[in-house]
Amino acid sequence: MKGKKKIIITIDGWSSCGKSTLAKQMARELNYVYIDSGAMYRAITLYFLRNHIDWTRHKQVEEALKQIDLQFDYNENSLQSEIHLNQENVEYVIRDLVVAEKVSEVAAIKEVRAFAVEQQRKMGKPKGIVMDGRDIGTTVFPKAELKIFMTADTAVRIERRFKELFQKNPNTTIEEVRNNLEMRDYIDSHRDVSPLRKAEDALVLDNTNLTEKEQLDLAMKWAREKLGTGN
Ligand code: C5P
Repeated sequence: MKGKKKIIITIDGWSSCGKSTLAKQMARELNYVYIDSGAMYRAITLYFLRNHIDWTRHKQVEEALKQIDLQFDYNENSLQSEIHLNQENVEYVIRDLVVAEKVSEVAAIKEVRAFAVEQQRKMGKPKGIVMDGRDIGTTVFPKAELKIFMTADTAVRIERRFKELFQKNPNTTIEEVRNNLEMRDYIDSHRDVSPLRKAEDALVLDNTNLTEKEQLDLAMKWAREKLGTGN
């Protein structure tokens, strides 16, 4: 879609409801940059785990954050931008359950959020971005032109995430996926700093019974309305 006006699109919602799939597709249609904010929290968690950082200690967290450099680089082969932690591509390793089990604890830390949010805001400066996460429409870009809040039935979300993880690791069980998803949703929506919640002006997209195409059509209709480029 061509046009001069560029906007910020935020996609927040529960774990595993397809935020990144929709965000990537919208970015492609609009020729926008897609930013996966969850990958930043996952990469920070990976760094903490690898370096045995005790994240209950503020001083250790502050010192560790000074050693972390996060960059998104476009990969010509996978046709997507991938996260690099101190120059190492960690896009795939951060998807492990080992990281997923700790990421919500790490993401609840005030200093960690300040570190990530500052970088996210910089990335959004030129507009023309689609960013997904938990607090993008509420905290990172409260003035974003289009905010989408995604949801889907828990059973459907568990099934989707299980299929994805099972493909990579056939030892994955549905119980561990369910436990992880429920734990993350609980911590993410109950933390003190920027808890997951729907921004008042966000549009709700429940994709329990929608195909990927139907969900994209709906979201693109909203985007066109905000861009003033069609019906
Ligand atoms: O989106 P994804 O599932 O990869 O995010 C991993 C975790 O990172 C979430 O469960 C949440 O704890 C944290 N997160 C966050 N704020 C964001 C994005 C992710 O707290 N904007």
